[in-house]
Amino acid sequence: MRELRKNLEELQGLGMLRTLKTIAGPQGPRVMLDGREVLLLCSNNYLGLAGHPDLIEASCAATRRFGVGSGASRLVSGTMELHDRLEQRIAAFKNTEAALVFNSGYAANTGILQGLAGPGDVIFSDQLNHASIIDGCRLSEARTLVYPHRDMAALESLLQTESSRRLGRFLIVTDGIFSMDGDMAPLAELVALKDRYDTLLMVDDAHGTGVLGATGRGTAELLGCLDRVDLHMGTLGKALGSFGAYLAADRVVIDTLINRSRSFIFSTSLPPGVLGASLAAFDLVDGPEGAQRRQALETNRKLFAERLRQAGVDLCDSRTQIVPILTGEPVPTMEAARRLLDSGVFIQGIRPPTVPVGRCRLRATLMADHRPEEVSAAAELILDTLADLPG
Ligand SMILES: *Cc1c(COP(=O)(O)O)cnc(C)c1O
Repeated sequence: MRELRKNLEELQGLGMLRTLKTIAGPQGPRVMLDGREVLLLCSNNYLGLAGHPDLIEASCAATRRFGVGSGASRLVSGTMELHDRLEQRIAAFKNTEAALVFNSGYAANTGILQGLAGPGDVIFSDQLNHASIIDGCRLSEARTLVYPHRDMAALESLLQTESSRRLGRFLIVTDGIFSMDGDMAPLAELVALKDRYDTLLMVDDAHGTGVLGATGRGTAELLGCLDRVDLHMGTLGKALGSFGAYLAADRVVIDTLINRSRSFIFSTSLPPGVLGASLAAFDLVDGPEGAQRRQALETNRKLFAERLRQAGVDLCDSRTQIVPILTGEPVPTMEAARRLLDSGVFIQGIRPPTVPVGRCRLRATLMADHRPEEVSAAAELILDTLADLPG
């Protein structure tokens, strides 16, 4: 125990200690923190659906009708009508043969990669892919080759080398929107490479689902290749407001995962209330209100990012509602986050290992139900705070 405490104290000294903040009330565009209302600029509840009355009502109705728990893993006793309905809904949304719901994005990525790849296979993984993808690659025991972020020439050269001694399956895996940089994978180029080298392409669209594309079908819709992606992974706990995740793909892939994916097989399935909320979320995202909310989010994003860019702030290559504000080292980053919170803006400082050493940042995320004037005011406050920072 003493050793553990010492480690924590060391982290604190380096500005690297992570602690939890408790908010009171629901996850809205503003939240109550220590008895004070602050602007929430760090939630992935991009469309504001987490507190939407339609989702709340659907969740309550599903709970009243089906109970609070699913009772077991779905292979044991837990497949309920709502699992089936949600999977049909997701497959229709992504225009695939089938879909499979997982308990979270973390469980999905570890389960999908472990279920589809094994020793003898090769996974090609973008350097900035989410931690759950990295862990899925490890669990799969496939050889994993990490290519420099969005570097298609480097990826092609790896594919070429590996093709000459190929034994098993090839799988390219990438985030759709990268969660810490807010930039997008070059999906059109990835599709071309996957065709040329007979490779499966998996896109983790945790942040794009519901947000990008004319109808919210995600990064692949925006980039015009929705029907060229083999494995559409997405989450239900971000823009969709509820909880859980899915893979939409060919039937044979889904059936393979039902038989092999350990996070699917060995875990109690999502409860009815969560499934009901997700079904309502797809209705919203697919309807006029979804389009409206996407538009409002885009308006806020533009206001915020253009103001900061214009002032010369490094926002990496962000093109989306995730706007990283590069600050460099941990101590000034956390000091900036603390000062902003004092001034009523809740934004998280992001440090290694989540981002590379020297690339700490304030990671702002916009929401559809932020008011444009509060987004502008937050941008000004951030500029003032950065200007006043020591060092
Ligand atoms: C959030 C996230 C996940 C994990 O999803 P959860 O449902 O929160 O477990 C996976 N991949 C990416 C890119 C994410 O941003």
